[in-house]
Amino acid sequence: MQDALAALIGPQNVRPGTDRTYLEDATAIRGLLGRADAVALPGSAEEVASILAWSYENDVPIVPRGGGTGYAGGAVPIDGGVVLSLERLTTLRSFDPLMWRMEVEAGITTGEIRRLARESGLFFPPDPGATEQSQIGGNIATNAGGPHAFKYGVTGAWVTGLEAVVPPGEIIRVGGPIRKDQAGYDLKSLLIGSEGTLGIVTAAWLRLHPAPELALPIVGFYGTTTQGSDALQTVVGSGLVPAALEYLDGGAFTAAAGSFPGGAPDSVGFVVITEADGTAAEATALRAELIEALEAESPLAIYAPESPAEVEDLWRWRDGVSIAVGAVRGGKVGEDIVVPLDRLGEAVDEIVEIGRRHDLAAVSWGHAGDGNLHANFLVDLANPDELARAEGAAEDGFALAVRLGGSVSGEHGLGYLKRGQLARQWNPAAIALHEGVKAVFDPKNLLNPGKKR
Ligand SMILES: Cc1cc2nc3c(=O)[nH]c(=O)nc-3n(C[C@H](O)[C@H](O)[C@H](O)COP(=O)(O)OP(=O)(O)OC[C@H]3O[C@@H](n4cnc5c(N)ncnc54)[C@H](O)[C@@H]3O)c2cc1C
Repeated sequence: MQDALAALIGPQNVRPGTDRTYLEDATAIRGLLGRADAVALPGSAEEVASILAWSYENDVPIVPRGGGTGYAGGAVPIDGGVVLSLERLTTLRSFDPLMWRMEVEAGITTGEIRRLARESGLFFPPDPGATEQSQIGGNIATNAGGPHAFKYGVTGAWVTGLEAVVPPGEIIRVGGPIRKDQAGYDLKSLLIGSEGTLGIVTAAWLRLHPAPELALPIVGFYGTTTQGSDALQTVVGSGLVPAALEYLDGGAFTAAAGSFPGGAPDSVGFVVITEADGTAAEATALRAELIEALEAESPLAIYAPESPAEVEDLWRWRDGVSIAVGAVRGGKVGEDIVVPLDRLGEAVDEIVEIGRRHDLAAVSWGHAGDGNLHANFLVDLANPDELARAEGAAEDGFALAVRLGGSVSGEHGLGYLKRGQLARQWNPAAIALHEGVKAVFDPKNLLNPGKKR
């Protein structure tokens, strides 16, 4: 197999399937390790197309891979085949700051795109937590969110066009440097969030936004979940539009409290992080209103950093919460369920209760404004019994999300780990359409088989 791939893209761009870097993603923390026959590192959309054409001729599964930061096992090759990494597609094809747009290849990291935009006074808002490793192609394939999705929307809201390779090895382009497109069925949106099961994204047109002049976060510490979730509803109900509206429950905050960059009170049961942005005048005025809204629910303390260094430290700390939680027992089984905002407090307490029923510590944090919880059950990876109990707890978490009118995934997708869960929330007719779409794009089921279904 390596020889056949080498003939297509050169031997230096093919690696053995045993290279562990390409066999796992962020789900390694719950023990998922795949198996591949080879790893291909194509350097252009044409090379990607040649590999997919070869796969279709020879019935070999292809697993597209971005930065490998996914939390659903989507990039993990479960049962052999070729891992196709987009890491060499890193060309900035065009950047037109005056038109607020750029065309990028799939392998550019999210962080690099945000930096490029910033240097020209622009802003690419999607900010999923692992921006230095995740790639824009992976963000598009998972329709990634992040803290600032509350005001600005998820990745798909910023994609105006896609270049993708679809079976049996064709390059298609849908959309482009245009802000509207009502011509055909919305193939762009079908590809966005399809987790590498319908096509391989090789490039994207992105729209950008003028960068806010100032961003001022505020942290509210509360004694109980009820006070904290009431504070969230007060913010939203007051008609304020913060850029971000995040939360941590007491357990998640305790896990990460040691590195919190400001002073924090004792006995924290719930934390709200919000942010005012805009012109300096807008951000300052909104900050005062947000503080007033947070204070209405009797916080233990408010931390409102102002200097750019303090603001950066706060968000860096927020990015590290997942790692801090994982470090408590060495492993965690986490799911990104979503519920209506007015059921968030109930879901947060219920997750802890589910953990208790399975004899596991449970914590959650996430994108509160979007009702999106990262519900995590803490485990010792060396203990198979704990892992099995955590999987059972995760199942209960899915049932909870659906019972509260939500979804089993708010941003990480179904990948491999949530296989079968869609049936909890969609009826058979909707599932049949889902399967039908897959069959139209990938009739041989060779693109990331076993994922997103
Ligand atoms: C610390 C941490 C924090 C995180 N925070 C967030 C967050 O706030 N919000 C959020 O949404 N996610 C978050 N994530 C999850 C993850 O970063 C996102 O899902 C991200 O979009 C995955 O991008 P990736 O390039 O790493 O993709 P990978 O993990 O490599 O792949 C993810 C899926 O996309 C497919 N894929 C990858 N590239 C392509 C391509 N070019 N074409 C077609 N399919 C492709 C893969 O097959 C797989 O199914 C976090 C992860 C970590 C480790």
